[in-house]
Amino acid sequence: MRAIEGSQEKQGVVRLILMSDTHGHHRKVAVPDGDVLIHAGDFTYFNGSTLAIRDFNDWLASLPHRNKLLIPGNHDSGFAYPAWRELITAAALLINEGTTVGQLRIWGAPVTPGDWGAFGAETSYERAELFSRIPSGTDILITHAPPYGILDRASAVDEPQGCDQLRPAISRIKPRVHIFGHVHQGYGMRRLNGTLFVNAALAGASYEIEKKPISIVIRPASQRVLLRGQAADSPWVIASRPSLP
Ligand SMILES: [Zn+2]
Repeated sequence: MRAIEGSQEKQGVVRLILMSDTHGHHRKVAVPDGDVLIHAGDFTYFNGSTLAIRDFNDWLASLPHRNKLLIPGNHDSGFAYPAWRELITAAALLINEGTTVGQLRIWGAPVTPGDWGAFGAETSYERAELFSRIPSGTDILITHAPPYGILDRASAVDEPQGCDQLRPAISRIKPRVHIFGHVHQGYGMRRLNGTLFVNAALAGASYEIEKKPISIVIRPASQRVLLRGQAADSPWVIASRPSLP
């Protein structure tokens, strides 16, 4: 694992700023300050151009967060290739690999089930194999797809779109926080079996930015208590608050 420089844990807490699915509209996002910025993929719209990727990287570089972590989504198809990955210099790009921030163990897995584009063509078997590499005890898991049945429906009557292989992997890994996006309408938070699940997709059905980044505060590894989650004056997060501690 590559270690990233220690985060600001002065008061014994780390503030995570979470987002996903900005689809080329990153400059329309107001980003709160925090210790660790995490983007869970689909930062492009159908991959975009190298110019668009460079602009995204410049935008990342302009943000004040000491630690920035990123995974590609199914839209970010160029990132299957090393030449595109090299365009991102302002954040750590995690592709089925882990890192640490201070005491927090973090893993990024971009694979999206049954979808086109980058990291989206794997079979159930291949996805299960990729997820088997994630160490148990990982504190923060970043995937592009939701796990099956959790914040993964476009509406109450729609079929779940989450990954069936991710759900059992979560039961084994037991991350403290699982961040994802992909199903835009699933934005929100849910706490289940000790894991806080966060769908941080900022774009709506039309791919325009409709939501705000989610800010949560987490204690370092020795304590497994998650303090609280919030996104200031966001009506979508208020709706999901009853499931939080
Ligand atoms: Zn998306």
